[in-house]
Parts: sequence; C-alpha cells; structure tokens
Amino acid sequence: MTTFDLTSIPFFRPSLGDDEIAAVTECLRSGWLTTGPKCAAFENAFAARIGDDVEAVAVNSATAALHLGLEAMGVGPGDEVIVPTLTFTATAEVVRYLGATPVMVDVEADTLCIDPAAAEAAITERTKVIMPVHFAGRMCDMTALRALADRHGLKILDDAAHALPAHHRGRPVGNCGADATAFSFYANKTMTTGEGGMLVTANPELAARARVMRLHGIDRDVFNRFTDKRASWFYDVIAPGFKYNLTDIAAAIGLVQLGRVDDFVRIRTERVARYNSAFADLPVILPPGPAEGDRHSWHLYILQLSDRAPLARDDFIRALQSAGIGVSVHYRPLHQMTLWKRFTEGRAFPNADRIFTRCVSLPLFMSMTDAEQDRVIEVVRDVLGGAAA
Ligand SMILES: *Cc1c(COP(=O)(O)O)cnc(C)c1O
Repeated sequence: MTTFDLTSIPFFRPSLGDDEIAAVTECLRSGWLTTGPKCAAFENAFAARIGDDVEAVAVNSATAALHLGLEAMGVGPGDEVIVPTLTFTATAEVVRYLGATPVMVDVEADTLCIDPAAAEAAITERTKVIMPVHFAGRMCDMTALRALADRHGLKILDDAAHALPAHHRGRPVGNCGADATAFSFYANKTMTTGEGGMLVTANPELAARARVMRLHGIDRDVFNRFTDKRASWFYDVIAPGFKYNLTDIAAAIGLVQLGRVDDFVRIRTERVARYNSAFADLPVILPPGPAEGDRHSWHLYILQLSDRAPLARDDFIRALQSAGIGVSVHYRPLHQMTLWKRFTEGRAFPNADRIFTRCVSLPLFMSMTDAEQDRVIEVVRDVLGGAAA
C-alpha cells in the first residue's frame, strides 16, 4: 500500500482499484491485446451512456479523436477553424495537422469558455468548423453555438477532454448540439485508460470515416458488403490513414472507469462545494458554476486571485508548492506561445490574458481525503491572509 504524506498533496492522483487491475489481468490472460472485443464493448457502453443515436469510435487519445473528427469533416488547406485561445495546444495543433488555419478567439471573463460573439466576429468565408472547449468541465453555451453554426453553415467539433459527464440543458456532452465530440482518457482526466480517447457522433458518415482513418485507411466494409464476410484476410486501403486505434488493455480499464464516472463526479462536486465555502471570504474569484439547467463535470478547480489579493499569482504558487501542495495553471493562452503567435498577430485577447495572470488550479481528485483537502484549505487561507477557520 502507498502511504500518503499528509504534508505533501499531489495535484492529481488517479483512482484505479481492484476492478481495473482484474480487468487488465483478464485481458492479458485472454491473449488478445490490441483492438478487439474489449474495444467494441467499451465503444458500445460509451455510446449507450451518451444517447441512443450516437456512435463511439475508440482511439488512443483525444488529440487523435480531434484530428479524426476534423479530417472526417473534410477540413484541409485553406480552411479556417475557430478555437478558444485558453486551451491546451492539442485543440489548435490538430488543425495544423490538416494544413488548415486555427483562428484563436477570446473567452468569456465569467465562464472561461469560448465567447460566442468573438467566435461570430472571427467567421470568414473560409471558416469550416468551430471547436468549443468545455473549460474545466463547465459546458459552453451549446445552444447559442449551434444556432451560430447553423446561421453560417459551419460544423461544431467540441473538445470535451474535460467534460465527461457534463450535461447541457439535460442532454449529455457528446449529444447536445455538436456534430462530433472528442473525449480524453489521459491519466488525469475525469476517467482514464492511461492514454485514450473517444470520438462520438450521431453522423454515421463521420463515424465510418473516422473508423477507417484510425487504422491506416483500411476499409474492410467495401469488400465485405458485397462478398463473403468470412474472407477476413481481404481488405482495401482507401486513404493514408493513421495509427490511432485503442488497445484492448486500455479499453478494459475504460469499461470499469466508465461505470464509476457518476461516483467520481459526485465526489468532485462535493469537494468543490467544500472549497467554495472555505474560500468565500478570500480575495479570490471562485470557479464559475454550471449555467442554469447544466451539469458541470468539475475536472479542474480553478481559483483566480482578485485585485485585492496580497500577492501575485506566481508568488501564490510558490507558497503553495513550498507547503507541499501540487498546483497547476490552465492555461498559458495559446496566443502567448511561440508557435501560435504568428496566427494571432495584431489581435487582442484581454479576457484570456487577465485570467492567465490570476489563475491557479488546486488539487481535485476522487481519492482526496477530508484531511488532505483541509490541509490545502488551511494553506490557501493562510497565504491569502484569511482568518483562521
Ligand atoms: C488533455 C486535453 C487534450 C488532449 O487529450 P489527450 O487525450 O492527451 O490527447 C485536448 N484538449 C484539452 C482541452 C485537454 O485538456
């Protein structure tokens, strides 16, 4: 057993138990390691969870899912794709994989999500797709974005790397207005397969294209549709595809984790409420909650220091780290990065810039104990000059 030093609290610790270990062991003993029955079962369970009319395509990362989603939407050189500047680089990077141009726009100061008005202002005749990011697990206004996309004939690929199992107006992420949705099962996401991802869509043509492109552009259906399905050795290659398939080892973990997602979000939501009430009187801006009628997945707990805070964000981080508390920053906006500067020259992103100077992500994970959270609260209150609780 691991022992936890209470004075040192990690930013994140995955919750993997005996069921995940047993599932992996069973997979290893079965002799079938790569994409096979476990992947198929994981895809079916995932699609069933999202809604009855979607398909789920398992891949080895959300980055792969985003790439395949854009590829299936026909994005290519000369096209523009609108992305928020406050996101992980993968959101914009996949646009470049296809030779298209990412167009960064600002986020809303109050939700940290893409600003629909800024997105609309960035639309040109080259725009093909909008990629909203449900920031920290708070759903973007998918109703407004869908209406916007329809007005301009655009597709929506939402980056839901943070968002499982959030809802927008009673509909689960993956089935609430986007043409396709990418999920991440990276180690610190809301559920994990170590590395992994899923592309979800209700459009059968998008799903079929993604299935072909996730494995070398190999198309078995073309042949099987017309001939003997038993000729499993026969296939056609229709495009230079990718090597993005998920292993059955990972899918076996995913099947167990998927069954725990609702417990996970309930626990994180309780921890968030506890943080919020402990920090209510401090010079901070608490993380935005869900919009009316939505559900937040609470992947991240992001505080912003207010103007009244007694120290700068970097000093705040140093103080927390020297007290043994793991913290992170989500994110340094893309337009500040060397690679992305040339895509954003001459444009201003005041909300993202301001958020970046003030934000810090605190530890939030399922196995966090009351004592661990109390320790984080104590240090934050102490550093920010709050009265002893
Ligand atoms: C983690 C993350 C990704 C990439 O996920 P991978 O599964 O690691 O490829 C993409 N977008 C956002 C917003 C993320 O946080």
